[in-house]
Amino acid sequence: MLEVEQILLAGNRGPCGGVNMSLQATREVLAIVSGRERVYTNNEIVHNVPVMEELYGQGLVNFENDWDKVEDNSVVLFSAHGVSPRMHEIAQAKNCLTIDVTCQLVTRQHTLVKKAAADGLDVIYAGVDGHPETMGVMGEIPDDKLTLVQNIEEARKVIVPDTQQAVLYSQTTLSTFEIREIQEEMRGRSNVAVPNRWDICYATDNRQAAVDELLPFVDFVIVVGSRKSHNSQMLKERASQKVKAYSIDRPDEIDIDWFVDGIRRVGLTSGASVEERFFVDTLEWFKLKNPNIQIKQMPEVKAEPVKIFALPQKDINLLKARYGEAA
Ligand code: SF4
Repeated sequence: MLEVEQILLAGNRGPCGGVNMSLQATREVLAIVSGRERVYTNNEIVHNVPVMEELYGQGLVNFENDWDKVEDNSVVLFSAHGVSPRMHEIAQAKNCLTIDVTCQLVTRQHTLVKKAAADGLDVIYAGVDGHPETMGVMGEIPDDKLTLVQNIEEARKVIVPDTQQAVLYSQTTLSTFEIREIQEEMRGRSNVAVPNRWDICYATDNRQAAVDELLPFVDFVIVVGSRKSHNSQMLKERASQKVKAYSIDRPDEIDIDWFVDGIRRVGLTSGASVEERFFVDTLEWFKLKNPNIQIKQMPEVKAEPVKIFALPQKDINLLKARYGEAA
């Protein structure tokens, strides 16, 4: 029998308002189209393997930003991570009907970066090279107006000429430790503005803080979340600073040998791109392996009253109109 005696459940975990909106909108789109034509997405709607497998099974096609794979006049979803203006232009040129399920907090970043450039500022952007959110934001302004920094070492090397003013913005799902360091570095520059409000979204911030709350009481942490999910990997990285931590998509990835050597208390959390049912499956795995296991729910570090952001209703109504259905 499993020797783990207690499971502590993170107070803030699981899907955020943006992910719930993106997934609900995608499911609505697939239901409206109902197999009458292909529904494309430029990228994984959210970085979650099991949920994407379900959506692909329901007819969603990921064209991985390769427009050659998309016929003119198609129905195209833009993922929760957002896309560059160029992607919208191509969709328009191909006469595609787009449903934009970008999280509103990512859209905010696009707006800030565009405004900075319009005001004559350079942008120093902390983000992960190649991550879809970063690619989308970077596409908003000319390359020579934005400097991408991926860590504190790169931030230290940034040179902003004395004649130029810059502002620091970031990807929404970075580590709060890391962004604090980068902010400190930039505060030391007289010509770089560091906004008081950081760009880490509430879901990332709260889930990382909730892991911090778990750590004094556990010997091990499991993060339910995909390897591609940056916010999930940041939770794993956070936990790994104190205890052993793994990320999984499903409980069948758990290796019982992880819990030898006196592991008695396990912390359980999930990334912002993970629906609660996947978390529950993992909890059930532990209950099955040890029916006497104690389960302790940790308090929320911060209440999250908004469970779902506003759906892109205008886009959805246009899709309904395509089939002569009332909005
Ligand atoms: S993790 Fe944050 S930025 Fe990403 S979808 Fe959720 S709320 Fe939006």
